[in-house]
Amino acid sequence: MTAYHRCTRCNSDMMMDGVYIVDDQGVRIVVSAERHPEQSGVSHPVSTLVHACVCGSCGYLELWANRPNELWEAFQRTEQSRADAPAT
Ligand SMILES: [Zn+2]
Repeated sequence: MTAYHRCTRCNSDMMMDGVYIVDDQGVRIVVSAERHPEQSGVSHPVSTLVHACVCGSCGYLELWANRPNELWEAFQRTEQSRADAPAT
């Protein structure tokens, strides 16, 4: 993400970075991944807020996770626990 990247649809440089999406209650949206800690088998969703980048010319909208590294960590653990799970 850069402040100066161009719209992938219309090639405008009028990209507005760091805007965000709220629901009708004014709550910002998040993106979540399920985390399955070893042993317990209990899942805990890991969530991070989402911010957006909007083209001021055509309105094209990109969504970005604020903390993708935290989601990736949870995602990897989930994949690992699936791989370790005994076949039933
Ligand atoms: Zn555009």
